[in-house]
Amino acid sequence: MTIAVLALQGAFAEHEKVLDRLGVSHIELRQAGDLKKPFDALILPGGESTVQSKLLKELDMFEPLKKRIENGMPVLATCAGLILLASEIEGQDSCHFGTIPMCVRRNAYGRQLGSFYYEGGIKGIGTYPMEFIRAPYIESVGDDVEILAEVEEKIVGVAYKNQLAFSFHPELTGNDKIHEKFLELIKVSTD
Ligand code: GLN
Repeated sequence: MTIAVLALQGAFAEHEKVLDRLGVSHIELRQAGDLKKPFDALILPGGESTVQSKLLKELDMFEPLKKRIENGMPVLATCAGLILLASEIEGQDSCHFGTIPMCVRRNAYGRQLGSFYYEGGIKGIGTYPMEFIRAPYIESVGDDVEILAEVEEKIVGVAYKNQLAFSFHPELTGNDKIHEKFLELIKVSTD
């Protein structure tokens, strides 16, 4: 199994370290040519969603990746990655990949709470250390989107078909349970 990590901007190296710890082979997606390499699943890291989306389009990577996600390739998205997957972004007319029916609010915790730490429960995982950095939260989800985590009544983690998305940074806390859950999802979908 090989996992591709989108490596245009943001916290991609930290995801790669988790994959190294778990002994999973991975490649970086930096240019369109990288999409020709074989990979079974995708990680969309945190960073700046507007910058990532712009680069994806400029580098002709946006449409091919969107198609692969729509065709069922497993995706783990964190923070900015979650924003890329949302079908609706509060206060904006357009979205990016739009492959999860949900509405997100960017930088939703305001300036003072720009970054914070919280220990909360995740369905199927249990108590988890959540590191939020200028994070979005999910205002509402469509039918069939499973809510995995909520912090003070705001949705911060969801599963939808082949996609897992969290508004915090699971790659920064040394707890690999979310990545392990993702590996299970990949195994089920490739069996
Ligand atoms: N604020 C960023 C955005 O809107 C997300 C922050 C993050 O990925 N840590 O894209």
